[in-house]
Amino acid sequence: MDREPLSDLERKGDFIRRHVGPGPDEQVEMLAALGLSSMSALIDKVVPKAIREDEPLGIGGGCTEVEVLEKLKGMAGKNAIHRSYIGQGYYGTHLPTVILRNLLENPGWYTAYTPYQPEVSQGRLEALINFQTMIADLTGMEFANASLLDEGTAAAEAMTFAKRAGKSKSMTFFVADDCHPQTIDVIQTRAAALDYEIVVGDPETGFDGIECFGALIQYPSTDGRIRDIGKLIETMKGSGAMVAVASDLLALCLLTPPGELGADVVVGSSQRFGVPMGYGGPHAAFFATSDKHKRSIPGRLVGVSVDSRERAAYRLALQTREQHIRREKATSNICTAQVLLAVIAGMYAVYHGPEGLKAIATRVARLTAALASGLKAQGVEIANDTFFDTLTLNTGGDTAKIYAAALERGMNLRKIDDTRLGISLDETTTREDVAGLLAVFGAENVDVEALDAAAESGLPSDLVRSSDYLTHPVFANYRSETEMLRYMRSLMDKDLALDKAMIPLGSCTMKLNATTEMIPITWPEFANIHPFAPADQATGYREMISDLEQKLATITGYAAVSLQPNAGSQGEYAGLLVIRAYHESRGEAHREICLIPSSAHGTNPASAHMAGMQVVVVACDDEGNIDIEDLKAKAAEHSDNLGALMVTYPSTHGVFEETIREICDIIHQHGGQVYLDGANLNAMVGVCYPGKFGSDVSHLNLHKTFCIPHGGGGPGVGPIGVGAHLAPFLPGHRELKDGDSRIGAVSAAPFGSAAILPISWAYIEMMGDAGLRHATEAAVLNANYIAARLKDHFPILYTGPNGMVAHECIVDIRPYDDATGISNEDVAKRLIDYGFHAPTMSWPVAGTLMIEPTESESKAELDRFCDAMISIRQEIAEIEAGKADAENNVLRNSPHTIDDLTDAEWAHPYSREQAVYPVPGLRLRKYWSPVNRVDNVYGDRNLSCSCPPLEAYMEAAE
Ligand SMILES: *Cc1c(COP(=O)(O)O)cnc(C)c1O
Repeated sequence: MDREPLSDLERKGDFIRRHVGPGPDEQVEMLAALGLSSMSALIDKVVPKAIREDEPLGIGGGCTEVEVLEKLKGMAGKNAIHRSYIGQGYYGTHLPTVILRNLLENPGWYTAYTPYQPEVSQGRLEALINFQTMIADLTGMEFANASLLDEGTAAAEAMTFAKRAGKSKSMTFFVADDCHPQTIDVIQTRAAALDYEIVVGDPETGFDGIECFGALIQYPSTDGRIRDIGKLIETMKGSGAMVAVASDLLALCLLTPPGELGADVVVGSSQRFGVPMGYGGPHAAFFATSDKHKRSIPGRLVGVSVDSRERAAYRLALQTREQHIRREKATSNICTAQVLLAVIAGMYAVYHGPEGLKAIATRVARLTAALASGLKAQGVEIANDTFFDTLTLNTGGDTAKIYAAALERGMNLRKIDDTRLGISLDETTTREDVAGLLAVFGAENVDVEALDAAAESGLPSDLVRSSDYLTHPVFANYRSETEMLRYMRSLMDKDLALDKAMIPLGSCTMKLNATTEMIPITWPEFANIHPFAPADQATGYREMISDLEQKLATITGYAAVSLQPNAGSQGEYAGLLVIRAYHESRGEAHREICLIPSSAHGTNPASAHMAGMQVVVVACDDEGNIDIEDLKAKAAEHSDNLGALMVTYPSTHGVFEETIREICDIIHQHGGQVYLDGANLNAMVGVCYPGKFGSDVSHLNLHKTFCIPHGGGGPGVGPIGVGAHLAPFLPGHRELKDGDSRIGAVSAAPFGSAAILPISWAYIEMMGDAGLRHATEAAVLNANYIAARLKDHFPILYTGPNGMVAHECIVDIRPYDDATGISNEDVAKRLIDYGFHAPTMSWPVAGTLMIEPTESESKAELDRFCDAMISIRQEIAEIEAGKADAENNVLRNSPHTIDDLTDAEWAHPYSREQAVYPVPGLRLRKYWSPVNRVDNVYGDRNLSCSCPPLEAYMEAAE
């Protein structure tokens, strides 16, 4: 009878073992190397007693991968997929399956990090420059960035850009009343914090006599009309305003682009270029402007530079880590953007090319015209006499009746008000769909071909596009599927993502993005739901969302969670607005001071600035901890106006500060609220709870702690958790008709990037109480194991009172820089030769590398990494000892490429083997950098941000 119970057998291969790298025996071995006998002894030494909780989390027992997919299938099955004609910025689209399978569903793309290390990111940087070129071409502008978070926030960025780049002293911003309503809402939220006045008015008549620093108009309008915006822009610019135009990429395939009509900025969403609606996101927004304003562009910009062989190479231009340098003076707080989605949209254009896009757009416009004429024949009055894909119908009070009749037939129309309905067509609309729509109005079996033949175009003849677009060969060369497949593959092969090696980025938590977690996001029941679909068609989504909110509240110890912010930076901004709203509700609106330690992530001061707060910097001591005396002094000095403290915990230096409770108390005594940046939650889940040790608000990064892949620089989700006293102020959304006290919308969609929430839900569900705590323990173990292995070779900065680090450790390179001129950058680039992505460079301390292994890396991979670091240390020692040349050495010349090896003459004092195979394992598994070290300065001096002419590649190949 000593057979193992079935349940034990079933758990043998469970998910926890797959998620956590080191196996049970290895964990024992690693603990022993630290002189410890158990995980609890480890946590005991690392996490201060004052904040530790030893009770189980209380969210459940975990489950297998098979079970979690069944549970998600069950929830997905409760969503109803209707034909969506709602429009309003979200449209049906066909993602070409070659892109679906080989890009969206491919870890070589989705597990990559933000391309700060250009040498290992050439593939996605090229894909992003395709995106930028596409946006610049279609909008008729000179410069486009590599994506923003959504159309609403992009429009809000356009507003702050207008204030920054324009010359007007006015504090008023004009918004045309026919912009998408959610766009207007996001702008209102942003403007309120900055004390800008928003005037929403008719763009033709409402602008008269208003002095404003900028204006936003939409082309085509939310109601489908295509205004002659050239005249509007001229008038508005004439009065000193900068003019931003929200536009639609598919429409711009047929319409004169805003850039040719005088716009200063063009924003919008690239969603309908192949990215599923996904109940609101993630999608890549775009931001394009003219040459003279290129240096004020928010977000990231990919530029062309050269490598040390003077070949063209891509890199992030200008504001690469802008917030880290300019802090509260940064142009925006955007850090994680929507890279994966921008890459998809760009590939959609590569796949279809200009003729293909034009055909899709023309077909949509023709079907819309056919629909319009069919409706008119039924006596329906159409409010807009110009249109591309959207018709607004005057219903004469019958909105509810028509809406219900359509719903009955499985169609969602846009309910505008009692007398108006909207219908938007898209790439997925068929002739049968048009006939089906007409049937709602009583016209049975209409011949759509015949309607089309007789229908008049809705495009104004004087706004028909005459200029070319997408003329670069990249948009012509990959038309067969074979070519397309190989193009994407060739780009992916240039990059180093988690499918090749560990990415030990401090603060960025590059952990496993399990396949099982990823599977559901492309299920049609999650992918094809419009964010403004009736709630009862998204029952499964709502169930998953509210369960995830509850579980995240439990994990953080807060009372309530909002999933709306679509990156950590947006969570910071939202959380600070919540704090401000709370103070205001108590008659203390003047509490606008935000204390921020000097060690804070750059998004913190940038977000505080966006939230209309004044940043006061608090010093850190030599140990990297907040200087308590300075904190006390600053809190006392600003006591009357203290709004908040932003603190990262465990600290950005990777240590659990013992004084965190005291820090929170000091802030509360002076009437402030504590904002705890939760990017380091991976060190705390199941062990301690910010909401329980004194913090009032935190954002989490679901793309760090909760397994959403980084996507090469997005998507992300940055939910905020808040204490009960702040819950009434969480972000709201017009579609949810939630409480008045709320701060308003911070994202265009009610649940932000809803489509990727199943990833985090699945992770939490599979891990359960024990698994989540175990992941934290293993993350701390892995970091301490690395610190222990490296400490005899490099100084490890900052440890807790017991000599331990939390979930990351900082390796100091400055002593070698002083001695040999070898910098942390040289070490970072040399790691590429060893097959690794560099750790975080020069943050939070200049001249250092911050390493975070996460729990998902196996002992073998940790050892491989430590061996590489130790070997590099020996390479430095050779320079110190004068055995290697101070300039011409393996570090300075890294990364080494195949071109180096095949040079006729090998011009280095070290061997080819030393260059590319410094450790034996590399002969079995080698990553080859496609370019040599990229020149940062050259790229910024000679800023070029669209696809280089082909000759540039040919020259490089010579
Ligand atoms: C990653 C990070 C952020 C910003 O999060 P995004 O999702 O990139 O906007 C903020 N603070 C810290 C400490 C971080 O590590």
